[in-house]
Amino acid sequence: MTEQIREGGCGCGELRYRVRGEPIFVNNCHCRQCQHQTGSTSVVNAFFEMERIELLSGDLAENVVVAGSGGPHIIVRCKACGAAVWSHYPRMGRNGAGLRVGTLDDPDTFTPDAVIFVSEKMPWVALPAGVPAFETTYDFREVLPPERLARLAALSRRST
Ligand SMILES: [Zn+2]
Ligand SMILES: [Zn+2]
Repeated sequence: MTEQIREGGCGCGELRYRVRGEPIFVNNCHCRQCQHQTGSTSVVNAFFEMERIELLSGDLAENVVVAGSGGPHIIVRCKACGAAVWSHYPRMGRNGAGLRVGTLDDPDTFTPDAVIFVSEKMPWVALPAGVPAFETTYDFREVLPPERLARLAALSRRST
């Protein structure tokens, strides 16, 4: 079986990447931190093992902010325009990345597995039909099929 190859990039076009296969999970997070960091209503992140993401062009820059859990959240950006393309979160470390779905050439390709931190969303934002929504976080075991849970567990083991 050949894996799906997708490409994306930053706002100025200098940074281009390629991502291989399907994500472990996709979250649409409405927490206040994501609002502050993106200046928008929420963020959509597709989580992959880092070896599935290949930088094709451009230079990366990093900012470290404090994650909701208190650990380091590393935001990876295009050095030229500053657009965030992916993040490393404490749970997975640098072995995993939350890819910003809006930077894909075809962002329609992923639908969130879950909408999270609904308790902090802007009041006028409507929730999508058919996507599980949670007040804060959720138990992955309730949402993800076994093969994606296994990929997540493997990644968490590698970052400890
Ligand atoms: Zn750029
Ligand atoms: Zn968030």
